[in-house]
Amino acid sequence: MSRRQRAKTLSPSARQRRQARRRSRIQAEVHQSGASTSGQDKEVENLVIIGSGPAGYTAAIYAARANMRPLVFEGYQAGGSRGGQLMTTNEVENFPGFPDGITGPDLMDKMRAQAERWGAVLRTEDVESVDLQNRPFTVRSSDVEVQAHSIIIATGATARRLSIPSEEQFWNAGISACAICDGASPTFKGQDLAVVGGGDTAAEEALYLTKYGKLVHMLVRGGHMRASGAMQDRVEAHKKINILYNTSVEDAYGDGRGLTGLHIHNTDSGEKRKLAVKGLFYGIGHQPNSSIFKGQIDLDDAGYVLVNDGVNTSLEGVFAAGDIHDHEWRQAITAAGSGCQAALTTERYLSHKGLLREFHQPGSQAPERREEPPPQEEDAKEDAEIDVTQARHRGQFALRKLYHESDRVILVMYSQPSCGPCRSLKPVLSKVIDEFPGKVHYIEINIDKDREIAEAAGVGGTPTVQLFKSKERLHHLPGVKNKSEYRDLIQTNL
Ligand SMILES: Cc1cc2nc3c(=O)[nH]c(=O)nc-3n(C[C@H](O)[C@H](O)[C@H](O)COP(=O)(O)OP(=O)(O)OC[C@H]3O[C@@H](n4cnc5c(N)ncnc54)[C@H](O)[C@@H]3O)c2cc1C
Repeated sequence: MSRRQRAKTLSPSARQRRQARRRSRIQAEVHQSGASTSGQDKEVENLVIIGSGPAGYTAAIYAARANMRPLVFEGYQAGGSRGGQLMTTNEVENFPGFPDGITGPDLMDKMRAQAERWGAVLRTEDVESVDLQNRPFTVRSSDVEVQAHSIIIATGATARRLSIPSEEQFWNAGISACAICDGASPTFKGQDLAVVGGGDTAAEEALYLTKYGKLVHMLVRGGHMRASGAMQDRVEAHKKINILYNTSVEDAYGDGRGLTGLHIHNTDSGEKRKLAVKGLFYGIGHQPNSSIFKGQIDLDDAGYVLVNDGVNTSLEGVFAAGDIHDHEWRQAITAAGSGCQAALTTERYLSHKGLLREFHQPGSQAPERREEPPPQEEDAKEDAEIDVTQARHRGQFALRKLYHESDRVILVMYSQPSCGPCRSLKPVLSKVIDEFPGKVHYIEINIDKDREIAEAAGVGGTPTVQLFKSKERLHHLPGVKNKSEYRDLIQTNL
């Protein structure tokens, strides 16, 4: 059958899509030859993806594989960190393809590498504002302003925390924001556990945890629950659930290895007491990261993006994927599925509008497969003789030597392999260091390996950055800060 005969057998919409694809192909060829169909169009991105959790990276993989060269704003501090919520968890046991489990940061690094391998352009920056009222859309980050024909919002949601004093200490060591993800962990099996919250989420979490725990205390702040009647009936009737009303959690305590109990307060009687539990699960809701879209697309009362047909927002060309619209399932695999759907829908939309500009991988269809770095690389660098003329170093020996011998500013980053936020901070610090050639030493300390030096330095968590000059510690910065903060501190201490 000739091409013309085949075209006749297609439905009108399929024919339209085919014609649009041809137009796009022509545009791609024009673009590759260095020219532009219209001077104005040359700078406009096909697709900007905002967010880099499972939804954002999966959308990026699919869009990049479709030669769309998506630009991804991975995020840095707003609404979590690069890689999303899984960067704060240790073991992910339920993501298909990893029969032995995988750590959250490792899973997200693999997704990131896959997106990059197929040509997604990644920027570890927060989007600060968007203009969706004018086309092409405008996206402004901390560092750049870009225009795009389409946008996928994959900014996720942040689990609300209680902010009790020892929360950081016990995060992932007894305190969790996801019972379905962490409840089956051996730490909690056969133990007394607690869920805080009085809504449907907390009730669901409590019921789920009865499969693993010996007894589940449900700590409800008020005198009654907000959960639906059916859910209330289920938790009240359950033999393994003990509901404590008018109860607030003031703090947690532990035995050096993990959480062993809570300090609770009965707001009605004023009684304060200890409650021995091995796990505390937050069921106090999530906050969708949608503030920058408010007033421009439709959101529900809680701030979740409203979608129809899975990923279409109220605005043509703007799609939403993952936890930013899904307040029901909230799992990595459902977010990834939604990211896939958003990318495929975007491709159809751009093709249909004749806006798609293709970016073929040069040379071959697939870029070279990356080789895993040899496992001994880290040790080899560490044991090598320390060259004081170099900017980057690793390990306590480098710190000891440079502390005594160098007159440069020394930036020390304390990290550990399972720390997700450390992975997003490293490339940011690396860029800052490059801005001061010959003036700064950067030393990475893995606190798992160099535990004594981290203790001596008073490091209570990772990432922590310290700044030294002339054998004096000048600054101690726990957590992830803005790039400009590190830059300014170096600048003022040169
Ligand atoms: C502690 C914990 C453990 C969990 N464990 C599991 C598990 O074992 N299995 C499982 O299936 N699910 C688990 N989940 C749930 C799972 O992590 C989420 O369902 C999933 O990450 C949602 O993916 P997402 O891509 O929609 O959003 P997120 O993962 O929330 O990612 C959102 C992204 O958007 C970025 N962002 C936000 N605002 C901006 C902005 N203004 N500019 C740029 N970027 C921005 C953030 O930096 C982040 O990269 C867990 C969740 C938590 C909190």
